[in-house]
Amino acid sequence: MSKFIHNLTHELTHWRRMFHAYPELGFTEYLTTYRIGKLLEGWDYSIFIGEDALDSDARVGIPNTEILTHFEQKAKEQGVEDSWLRKMAGGNTGLVATFDTGRPGKHIALRFDIDALPIKESTQPSHTPTSKGFNSINPKVMHACGHDGHITIGLGVAKYIYEHQNQLVGKFTFLFQPAEEGGRGALAMTKKGWLVDVDRFYAGHIGIEEMSVGTVAATVKGFLASTKLNVRFHGNASHAGMNPETGKNALLSASSASIHLYGIPRHSKGTTRVNVGKLEAGSGRNIIPDEAYMEVEVRGETKELNNYMTEHAKRIINSAGSMHDTNCEITIVGSTEEMDCSPSIISNIKHACENSDYIKNIISEASVSGSEDASYMMNEVQKHGGKATYMLFGTKLDYPHHHPFFDFQEEVLPVAVDTFTRVIEQENAYNPGER
Ligand SMILES: [Zn+2]
Ligand SMILES: [Zn+2]
Repeated sequence: MSKFIHNLTHELTHWRRMFHAYPELGFTEYLTTYRIGKLLEGWDYSIFIGEDALDSDARVGIPNTEILTHFEQKAKEQGVEDSWLRKMAGGNTGLVATFDTGRPGKHIALRFDIDALPIKESTQPSHTPTSKGFNSINPKVMHACGHDGHITIGLGVAKYIYEHQNQLVGKFTFLFQPAEEGGRGALAMTKKGWLVDVDRFYAGHIGIEEMSVGTVAATVKGFLASTKLNVRFHGNASHAGMNPETGKNALLSASSASIHLYGIPRHSKGTTRVNVGKLEAGSGRNIIPDEAYMEVEVRGETKELNNYMTEHAKRIINSAGSMHDTNCEITIVGSTEEMDCSPSIISNIKHACENSDYIKNIISEASVSGSEDASYMMNEVQKHGGKATYMLFGTKLDYPHHHPFFDFQEEVLPVAVDTFTRVIEQENAYNPGER
């Protein structure tokens, strides 16, 4: 049994519960970033935060200044140092940490997402975080996707590298990425250039598909390219009884757009999706509605299919605007690409995980159907000749992801750390005899 993992298990649980209790939404992960950074500093990592970590202009879907300032103030009260807050201000959250063994070897990059969701966590006693006392302390924010676990796994792997540095070669880059939900943060870290000389890239997710603890999928297929659009229609208000003819009806534009968006023809080349998830319009019974707001997303099996959906969606939205003589404003607030895991990695992972006490079963490929912005990072690595994969770590899922009762089995944490560290050991073990 790996002594390192065995000794680490208690700490993994502690970290997971701490991060679970303090969930933060995308681009407001100030305390989360700080806590990760402080641990990594103690393990001799070089830390990059703020605009040193990401290309600020490549972020999309950033909360407004009022929200950002509120959470910056809150983080200050929670003890985040001013020097850190200054660099992260304006929603430049997340961090990159590097470790160079100083010996030639592969450059391995690992990505862990750190954001939570706008969900009010259940306080029912049957929900483990409640019964064990680590429920979210932040109103209407919850780690309901397992990213609290991802942060924890990342820290576990980082500690392994620090403690085993004399047995390792090459370089390691950890990307603790903000704002995965909505596909908003990965492109900004990718554009900063962290991935151009990476030989191996590993990312993963707890859950997604229900598998037992100890089961690991070495690759996934089926993540869809996607585009998230916010739409505003601006019309003209007027009295619905006295002079309706001077009104310009934004509600009608939005509702027409909603119905016709579902009429985009399916595509013979593969899977596509469309959804209008939110529509708000109007202000009262006898007023012609002058404002409407919609949240829309489209997806496609490939970038080409997603572009097809996006272009048709824009055309329909704009047409619905002109149909009712309203002005229409479309903002892209998130996107992901398709991903193709490098198949040759499967046998590496299988080989590395032989004889583990934690990993019972490696599946070559799991089918999924959501979207992941790690796709930007993977495609960047592969474009430059590196290999990349996205793994799944099995856990029982009594409730789906993004549900107020979502939880995972904490036993998955040592399984995931064991997988990453074994793979690293296989890729970057120091063998003086060979060099
Ligand atoms: Zn999620
Ligand atoms: Zn997730």
